[in-house]
Amino acid sequence: MKGRVERQFPLKSLNTWRIGGLAEAVFWPENEEELMAVWLSCHEKEIPVRLFGRGSNVLFPDEGLTGVTIISTGVAQCVWGGSQVRVGAGYSLARLSQDAAECGYTGLEFARGIPGTVGGAIVMNAGAHGGSIQDVLVEVKIINREGKVERLGKEHIEFGYRECSLRDQAIVLEGVFCLKAGDSATIRQIMSENLAKRKVTQPLELPNAGSVFRNPDGDSAGRLIEAAGWKGKTIGGAQVSLKHANFIVNHGSATALDVLNLIHGIHTDVQTKFGVELKTEVRYISPN
Ligand SMILES: Cc1cc2nc3c(=O)[nH]c(=O)nc-3n(C[C@H](O)[C@H](O)[C@H](O)COP(=O)(O)OP(=O)(O)OC[C@H]3O[C@@H](n4cnc5c(N)ncnc54)[C@H](O)[C@@H]3O)c2cc1C
Repeated sequence: MKGRVERQFPLKSLNTWRIGGLAEAVFWPENEEELMAVWLSCHEKEIPVRLFGRGSNVLFPDEGLTGVTIISTGVAQCVWGGSQVRVGAGYSLARLSQDAAECGYTGLEFARGIPGTVGGAIVMNAGAHGGSIQDVLVEVKIINREGKVERLGKEHIEFGYRECSLRDQAIVLEGVFCLKAGDSATIRQIMSENLAKRKVTQPLELPNAGSVFRNPDGDSAGRLIEAAGWKGKTIGGAQVSLKHANFIVNHGSATALDVLNLIHGIHTDVQTKFGVELKTEVRYISPN
């Protein structure tokens, strides 16, 4: 295998929050075959194995992770055939949206500022500005629970708000997207407006993992957190952002425990004050 392997590797460098202990072993497969071989072999030998993309929606534990941590970013083929594109799970979603704009295809404007991989975006049904992955996805190639490679049409996948039925049930190897012909200049214009909105409203200058909580029906998590008095509150190196209360930022020394304590405090307080149970959008990865 050609993929890079590292032992006792800092998880901090594998996620946008820059948090986490050491991973016992990390593998960056260079292609789908290498990813599959290691994934299946770990399962066969009962070695703990986990797969991540850019780590932009996860909180890694301070205790670190045992077993094998696979990072998908090398599985990054991207093949265009007219308005359809077949993309490896590790390809950058933001890059794909830029590619689409350059080729004059519309449909991925919403994705320009989302810092994840295509695989992470599919399992999270990532979305913004009124669009989401489910609008443009037509098919996925997965490793299913039986360890078999399978192609699934979109009609066999259930999508919800920041979730889909593949989550924790399958490994996404590839996604096929269908876009529509559009005007490159207009597409670029929409993207730069979307990016500008993010720069104004999100604390992009500090490490974070995007929205911490999902928006409850008909309300915004940020509004509730701010109304409960948590904007700017700090525990250790972690702070509820002063720019957007649904973001927690790392001032350099934040631990997973600092972030978990903020999450727990917000969750309890919002429930007590407003009777709303906030659900997390970011995923805490348990060390066990
Ligand atoms: C500044 C900022 C802004 C953001 N804005 C948005 C936004 O507007 N909209 C939005 O939806 N999200 C947003 N996010 C969150 C995040 O970028 C998305 O959820 C993204 O899709 C996660 O992709 P990833 O590759 O980083 O996944 P990771 O964080 O690496 O993984 C997330 C989960 O997906 C699983 N996973 C990853 N790859 C695969 C795969 N190939 N097969 C199966 N499971 C897999 C992982 O095991 C994990 O459980 C933002 C994050 C940041 C930091």
